[in-house]
Amino acid sequence: MIIQANSQQFAARVRNVPVSFIREILKVASDPDIVSFAGGLPSPDLFPAEELGESAKRVFSKRGVQALQYSSTEGYLLLREYIAERYRQRFKLNISAEQILITNGSQQAVDLIGKIFIDPGDNVMLERASYLGALQCFSIFQPVFKEVNLERDGIDTAELEDQLNVAPIKLFYCIPNFQNPTGVQYSLEKRKTAAEILRRHKAIVIGDDPYGEISFDKQHIPPLYSFYPEKTIMLGSFSKIIAPGLRLGWMVANREIIKKATVMKQASDLQSGNLSQYILYDFLQNNSLDKHIETLIAAYKKKCTTMMGCLQNYFPESVKFTRSKGGMFTWLTLPEGNSARELLQQALKERIIFVPGDSFYASEPDHRTLRLNYSNVDEPVMRAAMYKLSRLII
Ligand code: PMP
Repeated sequence: MIIQANSQQFAARVRNVPVSFIREILKVASDPDIVSFAGGLPSPDLFPAEELGESAKRVFSKRGVQALQYSSTEGYLLLREYIAERYRQRFKLNISAEQILITNGSQQAVDLIGKIFIDPGDNVMLERASYLGALQCFSIFQPVFKEVNLERDGIDTAELEDQLNVAPIKLFYCIPNFQNPTGVQYSLEKRKTAAEILRRHKAIVIGDDPYGEISFDKQHIPPLYSFYPEKTIMLGSFSKIIAPGLRLGWMVANREIIKKATVMKQASDLQSGNLSQYILYDFLQNNSLDKHIETLIAAYKKKCTTMMGCLQNYFPESVKFTRSKGGMFTWLTLPEGNSARELLQQALKERIIFVPGDSFYASEPDHRTLRLNYSNVDEPVMRAAMYKLSRLII
């Protein structure tokens, strides 16, 4: 028997979960004639497929039996030590492997955080706008969403303070580097100020950071964790720096939080794929991750520069956009009277897609905004499509 989507037989927590518009639009993107600025897909020609293949061969011939067996929920110890060492080198952070949980992509970490912290009615604050996947995931736990505005260098910290003085929050979720969807990066000052306010108000902070390594000018600003380690959780991912198909990410937090998250992970999937972890670790031992990231940076920076050039040269001045310094996205605000959804209808006729911004808001959306992804479109195709798109804006 078919259960109606709005049936009371479904649990209350799933009845109002938004469908991911991006997943829907990506179904259209599989048509090879479509130029897609919609997804957040890394460029597949940059996947180190050959090297991962070599690693897979080595793993099967030398450690096949271990790699194919069940293992610990926490994840492969050597991989966790590798991640800890990277934080030590990059930010002089003293993180032990016990503070790291390997997850099925950072998306699973978002889900585990929802499970361990959010009760129905809890105040959860997001950036305005925020990552759709977090919005979708947290909404399962039925929080009350609050939003704080984003400025060019991070959240509006004065507004954050004002809001927290009126209503305390349980959790603040942010993406401080090359944010999805806006491309914004928090300045050092903003990080320090935000951490100080959040600490005073005893909020739990999630710094989700899948894009930080893809910094075009190779500037690595210390994470919020550096200024508020007690209650900050850092999320990382191999999806954008190696390949999303591995489905490997991680969570860093104090041991107490990691213990709770580990129990939740045990309950949902026992552990992340052992085979993926072994292959990835072998890859990291036999290749330079930094060198690989350099290649990614060079490629994405070039694509980003092309897109910025198109926005500057083809689009009316009244269209505002983020000058991204890393990551994969820029964020447009159309002139008054325009609607990104309507623009998408027009663009579809030209076989171009993007994501209208309204999906990224937890409250009243700004219908003039949209997100463009530049990492997965060839430059000549990008130029032609951006020109066509610009002609559609009045
Ligand atoms: N957080 C953010 C901000 C993202 O943009 C994404 C992927 N687009 C994720 C988390 C999830 O990535 P993954 O599960 O592949 O690590």
